[in-house]
Amino acid sequence: MTFRSRRWLLAPVVAGAVAAAGLSLANPITAADAGAAKGKARNVIFINGDGMAAAHREAARLYLAGLDGQLTMDKLPYSGQLTTSPHDPKTPITDSAAAATAWATGEKTYNGAISVDVDGNPLPVLGAQAKAAGKSTGLVTTAQVTDASPAAFFANTADRGKQDEIARQYLEVTRPDVILGGGEDWWLPAGKAGAYPDQPAEDPSEASKGTKGDLIAEAKSKGYRYVSTAAELQAAKGGKLLGLFGNEELFQQRAEGQGDVYAPPASLATMTEKALSTLSTNKKGFFLFVEEEGIDEFAHNNNGTRMLQALGELEKAVAVARNYAASHPDTLVVVTGDHECGGLTVEDTDASDESGDGISAEDGPFPIKGSGQSFKLDWTTSGHTGADVPVTAYGPLAEQFTGKHPNTHVHDVLAQILTH
Ligand SMILES: [Zn+2]
Repeated sequence: MTFRSRRWLLAPVVAGAVAAAGLSLANPITAADAGAAKGKARNVIFINGDGMAAAHREAARLYLAGLDGQLTMDKLPYSGQLTTSPHDPKTPITDSAAAATAWATGEKTYNGAISVDVDGNPLPVLGAQAKAAGKSTGLVTTAQVTDASPAAFFANTADRGKQDEIARQYLEVTRPDVILGGGEDWWLPAGKAGAYPDQPAEDPSEASKGTKGDLIAEAKSKGYRYVSTAAELQAAKGGKLLGLFGNEELFQQRAEGQGDVYAPPASLATMTEKALSTLSTNKKGFFLFVEEEGIDEFAHNNNGTRMLQALGELEKAVAVARNYAASHPDTLVVVTGDHECGGLTVEDTDASDESGDGISAEDGPFPIKGSGQSFKLDWTTSGHTGADVPVTAYGPLAEQFTGKHPNTHVHDVLAQILTH
């Protein structure tokens, strides 16, 4: 039986299961689409909106899709919630490192840990396990490629700050086939500026600071094609790919009007497209990690305008992944966040701001698309909170994301596809 006919036969069953789960099919993902959930699992596209929880997604929905609209990330047919607390002796609120370790290893650990346990012992990581199973692997982010969230899938270190060591492990241990994002400063020793000059005007603190030698040269010697501009990225074809498009993050995270910039040289969607076209040639499948870091960083700065911009860029990357999965039903797509950031709420537009001025002052009003109405964003902190994060999923095993789970559940689902 061909896949197509099997899917057609199963579609009514799946539609019934979706209805039983209380999910509406009144969105553009049809019962036939939901049937894609029965494809044999081979690929995983895991997407992190860093710092993104329910209020961030709702703000983006109003701003980008309108009162009756729906984001692509919210149309994925299965949804649930994840709790994010770490095993940290000092705090119940996670950072990106402990949260990503939970995803990549299934183990709770302390903040700052990159896939090591609470005693500092290295743990098996999904990025390496997928490689051992014969799959291609990749990571795409608007943060440093060696930042905590991607790092936990491809490295082990007791300290998330050792980003040059994380880069070294990428090249010498876990060898992801595609590495696209920022963080050139960690790949080159002090004094060797690279494609992105040291001490640029937009942030004079940025400068090469690696202690592991010229890792870009090492990457080339190990067969990576190295690119540093969008044009070079577009021209790259096949093989292993290293693209570094900035000294640190691919944006400048600051409060409104204080040098805040979100203008990555290569967009998250563009990087995701290139990664998919590169990785998808492997018949054994692939694992791709995709991250929009600007949501978290601008939420830390309580910068609602730039946060909404970053959410819009994430949404475009989700659409790329969703479109890929539509024609490759052996692909699981998961969209979630590692933790909440900002203690964010979506509020009415009125004159008073109960939480006062300073860093937690309201932002907005922001227009609601297609209506004369607007909303405000209100913050309670410039840090992370323990609020749940929504998770939505499409494709094989997506139904396992329904319900409420600890964030280690991500590992337990992804491992079913990636470890064999
Ligand atoms: Zn953060």
